[in-house]
Amino acid sequence: LVPRMSGFGTTIFAEMSALAARTGSINLGQGFPDTDGPAAMLHAAKAAIDAGRNQYPPGPGVPELLEAVAAHQRRFYGLDLDPTTQVLVTVGATEAIASVVLALCEPGDEVVTFEPYYDSYAATIALAGATRRTSVLRFPDFAVDEASLRAAFSPRTRLVLLNTPHNPTGKVFTRAELELVASLAREHDAWVVTDEVYEHLVFDGAVHVPVATLPGMFDRTITISSAGKTFSATGWKVGWLSGPAEAVAAARTVKQFLTFVGSGPFQPAVAVALGLGDDVYAGIADSLARGRDLLCDALETAGLTVSRPAGTYFVVADAAPLGAVDGLEFARRLPELAGVVGVPVSVFHDDQGAARTLIRFAFCKRDDVLREAGRRLASAR
Ligand code: PMP
Ligand code: GLN
Repeated sequence: LVPRMSGFGTTIFAEMSALAARTGSINLGQGFPDTDGPAAMLHAAKAAIDAGRNQYPPGPGVPELLEAVAAHQRRFYGLDLDPTTQVLVTVGATEAIASVVLALCEPGDEVVTFEPYYDSYAATIALAGATRRTSVLRFPDFAVDEASLRAAFSPRTRLVLLNTPHNPTGKVFTRAELELVASLAREHDAWVVTDEVYEHLVFDGAVHVPVATLPGMFDRTITISSAGKTFSATGWKVGWLSGPAEAVAAARTVKQFLTFVGSGPFQPAVAVALGLGDDVYAGIADSLARGRDLLCDALETAGLTVSRPAGTYFVVADAAPLGAVDGLEFARRLPELAGVVGVPVSVFHDDQGAARTLIRFAFCKRDDVLREAGRRLASAR
């Protein structure tokens, strides 16, 4: 393994899911739902297979999905995209992130991101030979610290890699925070790559602001999303990116040699899902808000200090009251202690001290599963 990748070993999600399986624990670690997405979407995938759409789809994605992504951006955000030049279908958001970073960064370029960060950001930046510069979001409110964000920028800044709503904190960036990022990006003539995979998973009237909708930002913003989260289909790995044609073309060039194309029959099915009614989108967020409350209440009852999230399907809690000293060590011990699996937040930090005893739990699970997890955690005290 080349030295720049040697620190990446096995991801925390793979480790913790294997631990859950081995110990028969409730897996609130890796984020994936335990119920299926919209029936119309599932039927459309089966219909596409039966209709013989089983060979390579077009490289940029099937036309109906490109059009559905453009229609989605218009319907929810008022953005007008040309589906043939300003949208690209990818193998999940993961490939979208990789293809953009690899397309835009030279070795030595700097990428500004927030920590905790999604694990693929660090690995992808390393693959590109670029350098990560971070600004810390601190428990429990995870507000943007302007001074540290400013300090992360330099003349070598090539792009900002942002995630809102934010994994693992559940934070939904405010318009003012995004305006600050946008103004720094403009000042440094940097791209903004914005990972908005949790765009529809926001609660209590919180508003998701796409960076591309901020004044003057469309031309330097690449927006990434995925069907995995919105439609509870993480195993389908259908994602996409959109933005100005030159950036989309650059990502397309790289994407050709990462995977060439994504899986065929799922693409028309995701196109169907994107076109479903507002009630379907609202229903997804409503049921997750219930899961959030169930799990947050249970974690508090169990003695943890909780940062109640406004978005995503993750909650970060401080496990110090349960005796945690080192989050990774505690997460490895939690199955034995409580029969539950969570993910230590410190692994998503360069500054591990910023999250020493924090654990992320996923609440995209059935109510009975969350209740049982709560009972187990309470009895572990
Ligand atoms: N970005 C974030 C912030 C995520 O949480 C995830 C998935 N957990 C991804 C990207 C990857 O999405 P996909 O499975 O569509 O590749
Ligand atoms: N995105 C999901 C999470 O944060 C899982 C991703 C993965 O397993 N790589 O839990």
